[in-house]
Amino acid sequence: MAEDFPVSWAPGVRVLFGQATLAARVAELGSRIGADYAGQPLTVLCVLKGASLFTADLVRAIALPLQLEFLGVASYGSGTTSSGEVRITSDTGTPLHDRDVLVVEDIVDTGLTLRFLLQALAARGCRSVRTCALLDKPSRRVEPVTVDYTGFVVEDRFLVGYGLDLDEQWRNLPFVGVLESAPPS
Ligand code: 5GP
Repeated sequence: MAEDFPVSWAPGVRVLFGQATLAARVAELGSRIGADYAGQPLTVLCVLKGASLFTADLVRAIALPLQLEFLGVASYGSGTTSSGEVRITSDTGTPLHDRDVLVVEDIVDTGLTLRFLLQALAARGCRSVRTCALLDKPSRRVEPVTVDYTGFVVEDRFLVGYGLDLDEQWRNLPFVGVLESAPPS
């Protein structure tokens, strides 16, 4: 499959989960989510920007009618470190009150972002909230959050691609890769 190997424009990045591996896991998650929400209204809440590519594939693997919403969040910080201070950068287009919401994240690291989101959604009066993350780094957890649907459990390495960035670059890599060495500045 194209680009399932280190690419020239992303030096220092080693492929961890290639396109076929990602597609197979997304299909499994979509089928589980579809079975769990059968007969129930579902709102998929994509957390921007990191979960954008994952969500685009995931919703197409869920064989149910659903509503798709987007919420932009950012934590202050740059490079490979986050301050843990989260803010909403763009809000959903419609209210989430009384909705059954599935929050879709790219990666749960310390858990601070997900904790912030769960508190914000509780305040909005969602009927139910479950969580889905493509990647989970449990060894880094600071906040004990529950991830209901996990794609892959990963070690404490900085990952890029398939939505994940390094300083806003490399989200468009079609695979999830490990940053083995810092890119030339
Ligand atoms: P947390 O609040 O759980 O520490 O981290 C959540 C956010 O930090 C993720 O949604 C993601 O944007 C960023 N993050 C955490 N680990 C990584 C990583 O390995 N690579 C990238 N690119 N972002 C990460």
